[in-house]
Amino acid sequence: MTTARDDLVIANHILAKHGVVDGFGHVSIRDPDHAGRFIIARSMAPALVSIDDLMEIDLDGNPVAPDAPRAYLERFIHSEIYRVRPDILAVIHHHSPSVIPFGVTGVPLRPIYHMSGFLGAGVPVFDIRCDAGETDMLIRSPALGCAHAACLGQAAATLMRGHGATVVGTSLQQVVYRAIYMEMNARLQGDALRLGPVQYLTETEARLAAETNDGQVQRPWELWAREVT
Ligand code: MN
Repeated sequence: MTTARDDLVIANHILAKHGVVDGFGHVSIRDPDHAGRFIIARSMAPALVSIDDLMEIDLDGNPVAPDAPRAYLERFIHSEIYRVRPDILAVIHHHSPSVIPFGVTGVPLRPIYHMSGFLGAGVPVFDIRCDAGETDMLIRSPALGCAHAACLGQAAATLMRGHGATVVGTSLQQVVYRAIYMEMNARLQGDALRLGPVQYLTETEARLAAETNDGQVQRPWELWAREVT
């Protein structure tokens, strides 16, 4: 039986193996024992994370331990989502390549197949320039994290213009599933758009597919976990 912290280490490795994260990007879980904290790796590449690299951060973005190691600059993405979305228990922020075009062109990311039905409710695009003018594009303050979380609303993910994406879930297994299939959907949608007009899932098809897949996320998790352990 693995603990929540073991699973968080595994999630870091799965996301790296699937190209969702590389040297950058991060995944967190809400602390199962303290709803006002989350657990995330210290500032490092996800593929290299081990259990001793995990740290706890509060919803103001402050590390809990007085001698905590350096935290990710963009931890406020996580803290502000956990603050306003009590239903959310896991968050991934990444720069996976196929999603980037959808954040900069105005072409909406839409579910092209049943695996990504969770995109059917729409993926809002967060443009940091609207809140902060010209910046280094990073969510490096509570105020920016709050603006981004407001853009997310009740959605499953945001695209961040010129930057990346953030995905949320009610479990670690679900958020890993969503991040991997969001990247795959973006790649397939880009391919399909080059071939001709695209028929997407309808809103109802997307909702029904998402409901079914939400009950199936353990199956790919077991496969992906085996591949990295
Ligand atoms: Mn980032």
